[in-house]
Amino acid sequence: MNPLEHTSLPDREALVERVKELECLYDISGLLAQLTSVEVLMPKVCKRIAQAWMFSNDALVSISLSDKVFVSKKWTAKTVFIKNDLIIDGEIKGSISVHYDASKHTQFSFLPEEEKLLLKLAQEIVAYLERQISVEKEESLKRIVERHDRLSIMGEMTAGIAHELNTPLGNILGFSEFILNDSKESKTKKDAQKIYNSAMHAREVVKKLMFFSCEIPQKKNSVALNPLVEDALEFIKPTIQKSEVNVRFTPDVKNSFTNLDSVQFTQVVFNLIINAIYASKPGDTIDVTLNTDATHLNLKVCDNGCGIPEKDQEKIFEPFFTTKPIGSGTGLGLSVVHGIIKSHKGRIQFSSEVNVGTTFVVSIPLNS
Ligand code: ADP
Repeated sequence: MNPLEHTSLPDREALVERVKELECLYDISGLLAQLTSVEVLMPKVCKRIAQAWMFSNDALVSISLSDKVFVSKKWTAKTVFIKNDLIIDGEIKGSISVHYDASKHTQFSFLPEEEKLLLKLAQEIVAYLERQISVEKEESLKRIVERHDRLSIMGEMTAGIAHELNTPLGNILGFSEFILNDSKESKTKKDAQKIYNSAMHAREVVKKLMFFSCEIPQKKNSVALNPLVEDALEFIKPTIQKSEVNVRFTPDVKNSFTNLDSVQFTQVVFNLIINAIYASKPGDTIDVTLNTDATHLNLKVCDNGCGIPEKDQEKIFEPFFTTKPIGSGTGLGLSVVHGIIKSHKGRIQFSSEVNVGTTFVVSIPLNS
């Protein structure tokens, strides 16, 4: 073999190589049609592609995709190689390359047909990756719709329960107040006070459920957003200090005003920050950012705390879902946040990773 020229094969051998290449393409199409995960499929794809090369025993196939690299076999020696980028939507997402040991081969060991084959294989892999991305997008959309539907159904149920409880609770509060005021006996007064306190607690829970199901009327007025967040931060200053965390607030540079229910918006800020504080360790910093664009106000609360495990992420907005110990949480904080944002026609999204942190992003139309 002349190392300075492409290998030129007798007709029969060339035919054998073409058949190998076609069989490889056929098998790879079959493999990639399976739509199994990248991690399972790519090592198999690498191994199968290596067999199609003329010096198949020497060939090493490598596919790299963002931070993952798949190879047909382990290799440490210096190599000569041919390579194709994997381009999706105009962006290089990775590459596929075929290598030979540089001590035995030169660039000319690769046949021109093999370079064309590599290009075709790269296109097949890109088509597979595009299908994977679209399946993932579809699944995530399905999950969002399911979560939305579940929360809507819960909202309707909760509204019904809250209404049913409101009237008897009002009666219990009213009559216990009568007894408190009229009774001369201290034991009776004490008991009536206990009934009154319990009924007040129950009414608070009912009120939160009504927030969740958007049953609380809004009192909207034009408010400056930065002072609203600053006031909420001032209000929870003692909790911040006690937890030894830092809260860094980046205000809206435009100092915008908008029409919203200021009490309800403060509740949103408050609940998100309280949760972030609870998830953080002493010394951690929580970033609160407020900004407005042409159409929306955007509030971001970002912590480096314990994060939310994937199995819980579906449930955090559901009423009474809490991972806090009994007595520490009611599981209504995020339900209230969800209800308030929904009734302002806004959106709340979050991303979270265990032991890395959580970011909540609230977006509400300006003058909603
Ligand atoms: P509560 O705070 O009473 O538990 P919430 O509705 O506010 O109720 O929160 C529900 C659950 O969501 C919490 O118990 C917690 O597991 C999770 N959660 C909310 N915010 C965060 C956060 N920033 N970091 C980690 N977990 C969080």
